[in-house]
Amino acid sequence: MTSDDRRVLIAGGGPVGLLCAWLLGRRGVPVRLFDLNSGPQADPRAATTHPATLDLLDIDGFADDMTRVGLKAPIFQFWDRSSGELVAEFDHAVLQNDTRHPFVIQCEQFKTSNLLLERLRKIGNVDVLFDHEVTGAAQTPDRVSIDVRGPGGVTSHSGGYLISAEGGRSTVRKQSGIAFEGFTWPERFIVLTTPFDFEAHRGYCYRSYFADPGEWCNCFKVSADGPPGLWRTVYPADPALTEGEILSDTGVQARIQSFFPSDSAYEIVHRNLYVTHQRVAETFRKGRVLLAGDSAHVNNPIGGMGLNGGIQDAVNLSDKLARVILDSESDRLLDLYDRQRRTVAVEFVQEQSIANKNRLEARDPETRKRNLGELRQMAAEPERARQFLLRTAMIASQRRADSLELAES
Ligand SMILES: Cc1cc2nc3c(=O)[nH]c(=O)nc-3n(C[C@H](O)[C@H](O)[C@H](O)COP(=O)(O)OP(=O)(O)OC[C@H]3O[C@@H](n4cnc5c(N)ncnc54)[C@H](O)[C@@H]3O)c2cc1C
Repeated sequence: MTSDDRRVLIAGGGPVGLLCAWLLGRRGVPVRLFDLNSGPQADPRAATTHPATLDLLDIDGFADDMTRVGLKAPIFQFWDRSSGELVAEFDHAVLQNDTRHPFVIQCEQFKTSNLLLERLRKIGNVDVLFDHEVTGAAQTPDRVSIDVRGPGGVTSHSGGYLISAEGGRSTVRKQSGIAFEGFTWPERFIVLTTPFDFEAHRGYCYRSYFADPGEWCNCFKVSADGPPGLWRTVYPADPALTEGEILSDTGVQARIQSFFPSDSAYEIVHRNLYVTHQRVAETFRKGRVLLAGDSAHVNNPIGGMGLNGGIQDAVNLSDKLARVILDSESDRLLDLYDRQRRTVAVEFVQEQSIANKNRLEARDPETRKRNLGELRQMAAEPERARQFLLRTAMIASQRRADSLELAES
């Protein structure tokens, strides 16, 4: 193989693309990554990093670095907004024999990206090109090629494999003719970030979920530039309102006050609105094109599973791709990547994230009573709490993926 044949091209330098670049690069695979932005974006998206993901990132001190720049959150809570009752509290300590990290780390995704960039700067065989947009992709049985628009015009690049990590709107996925099956929620999700200290003033822990008929809220803390850090609150937005109405000062105060009434106005430091989908690509592999992260699957953020799934894709894929390129193992390993990661995207992440939303927003009084009663009981019984946390901490899905083998051909 020439070095061109061994090169992996990566479209997209979000956390998933950068992680693939680092994991492949540190094994000696030549990598060239392109991202259309000028660097990591600081918008408030992923922060929650689950135990299964931290276990996978326990490489060269990476999980420790995330802990250093993030916040440790061993506990999460469910609250009933209408009664103000703390329904259930779960402590990851019950997972002490299941993971080396019996806690969540709240680490904003741009910090994860910056930690990866620091490491990538030390690896000579990886080129990271920001301000470069991948506009076209094609493959033959032997190679892949892409067109890239950068400051100097359009250039072509070729390599042995192409990882599509450019997020939910992936150009490469579309140009490869891979369907993105699923649906879009009618309501957009609004994120309001405030310095108001929900722990000191209201007793909420760093990850708190609120159930309310037809509504819900996730309230969680990030370290930001802190201490003291910031609190992010996420809600459904009224589909009848325009974006301008939702994001106006009146709109955001009404939204936050509806869950957390207060005599004074909240200081809102960021307000963001997201369209949210539940979709999984029909395949994560088409020949030499491999999908990872949001390019392969998207879901609502309740439970914080999207990027965790993407990181788990990146670790799985990079190991297999390195073995194919460096050790001449069969490229059927890449079919196994598709089987393992697509299966758990459908069986766990889609299922669990939709169930999380349904549980919080249930309107029917009997269903609400049953849902909240079940959470209460699970929290009270250590083994049931452990089984629940194995799923929320994404350990069960990781175990399921590891158990899958290729069907005999
Ligand atoms: C409000 C909210 C909260 C969330 N909270 C969590 C959470 O707590 N935990 C969790 O696990 N997940 C969470 N998520 C999901 C998480 O943000 C995504 O799963 C994550 O961003 C996926 O990472 P990625 O690298 O696959 O894609 P992205 O982060 O979308 O990165 C894609 C990159 O590709 C680049 N790009 C796009 N098109 C091109 C192109 N044509 N050429 C070159 N570059 C291109 C973009 O500039 C971008 O840098 C949340 C999402 C939202 C909206």
